[in-house]
Amino acid sequence: MDDNPYLLLTPGPLSTSKRVKAAMLKDWCTWDREYNDLVQNIRSRLVALATKRTGEYSCVLMQGSGTFCVESVIGSALGRIDKLLVLTNGAYGKRIAQMAQVLGISTVVQDSGEVSLPDLDKLEETLRSDETITHVAMVHCETTTGVLNPIQEAGRIVKSHGKVFIVDAMSSFGGVPLDAAEIGIDFLISSANKCIQGVPGFGFVIARIDRLQSCQGQARSLSLDLFDQWDHMEKNGGKWRYTSPTHIVHAFYEALTELEEEGGVSARYERYRQNQLTLVSGMREIHFETLLPDEAQSPIITSFYYPKDESFTFETFYKQLKEHGFVIYPGKISNADTFRIGNIGEIDEADMKRLVAAVEQVRGDGQSA
Ligand SMILES: *Cc1c(COP(=O)(O)O)cnc(C)c1O
Repeated sequence: MDDNPYLLLTPGPLSTSKRVKAAMLKDWCTWDREYNDLVQNIRSRLVALATKRTGEYSCVLMQGSGTFCVESVIGSALGRIDKLLVLTNGAYGKRIAQMAQVLGISTVVQDSGEVSLPDLDKLEETLRSDETITHVAMVHCETTTGVLNPIQEAGRIVKSHGKVFIVDAMSSFGGVPLDAAEIGIDFLISSANKCIQGVPGFGFVIARIDRLQSCQGQARSLSLDLFDQWDHMEKNGGKWRYTSPTHIVHAFYEALTELEEEGGVSARYERYRQNQLTLVSGMREIHFETLLPDEAQSPIITSFYYPKDESFTFETFYKQLKEHGFVIYPGKISNADTFRIGNIGEIDEADMKRLVAAVEQVRGDGQSA
């Protein structure tokens, strides 16, 4: 650990390396070739992380947090008479449906509660019975609980019906191996401050080039116009339309290099998986229970039930752990009392072991759960 007073065990912002933070200690300019080349380099590296079929895809960087990028896709990819089907099993899926409603887009929601995987037979049936649906959107890792949704299987169904497939891979991209072209993803969305391990301030969309082209003139917002942002970057060699988050872009460049040095997405996935396994086995030893069964669990973030004793409060637990050098996350589901621990960022197995020891100490030996 460097000078930070605590580790962020939260799924973005998360703990970053010293090198990533150090990249922000300069006043970077935007108006020259050097900066634009850096942007172009980032765009092509992101496409290469997303698929082997790099010629079919392009990347758009967009100011704002991840939600802004999702909204730019929803608001630009669907035309006036298009209709969106959203598969939801948590807050981020619901947010997609909510933004579609705000934008006046005709939307159907297939909800599977908060802890279940989407019903793919039902997806098949809906697409067969409602031919007016043109686009399907879903979340890969639903960060609300940590569940990993079956985008591969869903993609096969969506593509067999010839629909456009939009995936919010915000909290998984760079940390869980996938190939967008093989899965049939048309628009994949993620942001700087998740598994790539940069800092918050912009997100990105990796999309099929033909799909990006068909977004022209469809946006319901000026600043979130995905086509315009892409077209501007393409025609001007990496220039952003409006002020770009220069420091964050430089930090992100370092983060991408670190990802490559670590051994790429599969090596990072392995580290996250080890973090998650170490955390869960340690927490189970001191009598904590996970919300999800192991087979639905992603390596990104883990939800735990509150211990059963009446005196437990999240606020106290949070504060005590923070004093021990760990920041955790509150739960986000409505029908159970849970808290969450992120497994991603510049952290390793030893950090997870130290965390479990801190939890044990805070809870007092023996009487834990
Ligand atoms: C983090 C996250 C987002 C974006 O949230 P912001 O707060 O806008 O960065 C969207 N979807 C998922 C699944 C996420 O984990």
